[in-house]
Amino acid sequence: VTDILDGKALATSIRAGVAEAAQGLRSRGVVPTMVVVVATDEAATLSYVRSIVRAAAATAIEAVVVELGPDSSAADVAAALRTAAEDPGVHGVLLQTPLPVGVTPSEAALAIPVEKDIDGANPASLGRLSSGLPAFAPATAAAVMELLAAYQVPLSGRSAVVVGRSTVVGRPVAQLLLAADATVTVCHSKTTDLAAVTAAADIVVAAAGRPRLLGRAHIGSGAVVIDVGTNVDDFGQLVGDVDGEALDGLAGARSPVPGGVGPVTTAILLRNAVQAAQSAASTAGS
Ligand code: NAP
Repeated sequence: VTDILDGKALATSIRAGVAEAAQGLRSRGVVPTMVVVVATDEAATLSYVRSIVRAAAATAIEAVVVELGPDSSAADVAAALRTAAEDPGVHGVLLQTPLPVGVTPSEAALAIPVEKDIDGANPASLGRLSSGLPAFAPATAAAVMELLAAYQVPLSGRSAVVVGRSTVVGRPVAQLLLAADATVTVCHSKTTDLAAVTAAADIVVAAAGRPRLLGRAHIGSGAVVIDVGTNVDDFGQLVGDVDGEALDGLAGARSPVPGGVGPVTTAILLRNAVQAAQSAASTAGS
């Protein structure tokens, strides 16, 4: 039997805590506010941004969308981020990808102050995280850890393999697992014999963006598998990086797609926004 790590249920409980904290701030006259800077006209991205705004509203967080359009320049993006950075009424800043050609996400995100960097996009946030200093992790990476913690998956001393090394997911997940005392291996497109590496792991985090990359040969008996992948397959279906059905009865537990990491990611983004507002409020009050 393979246990399913239910991201929806976890997200619901995180959001309840967020709403309570946000109401608490509002009762003290602070409206927790996040700005989302968008520079694309991609329908899927715009719909995702609308879902963030709805989720924010449902947890008493104000989300302001700054739409720059797909033709904006690096200077336009920098200006929008700087405005949000300098506004004391803005607690969290999210730079939505994709960005126009010529605008590099991590370069642009240097303009987001780390205390407002609720999606851990500024390279300084990843540097701080890697150095054990307080910083927001990218929400997806934090969501992976939150799922593991919620299901009390032991990490200390266990072997964890992360498939993917992007600055958005793979690298920060690896850093967080390392900080939790796991023995961490990071795989990528140049890894030879991926299956041999992943099959030996106690915990596998799949973040390669390749539909059903990991099957039965890749997972050891009883391993815990977190599937970060969100891919559309040839039939237009949303699938993960893991062939979940192939793992039935083999893996100890796995997170599904959809309904795993995705909903937790949004909940964590909101939690980060409210935490940023709390920190700002306590700094202002002290
Ligand atoms: P990315 O920037 O494209 O990075 C993919 C990583 O996977 C790269 O490091 C790449 O290696 C590696 N990779 C690609 N093919 C591989 C293979 N065959 N074997 C081993 N490694 C391979 O993607 P990302 O932004 O990290 O996102 C990864 C996935 O997570 C995507 O499906 C994305 O949609 C999803 N995602 C989900 C959420 C969520 O909230 N659920 C959030 C963000 C991303 P190289 O470095 O060698 O190229």
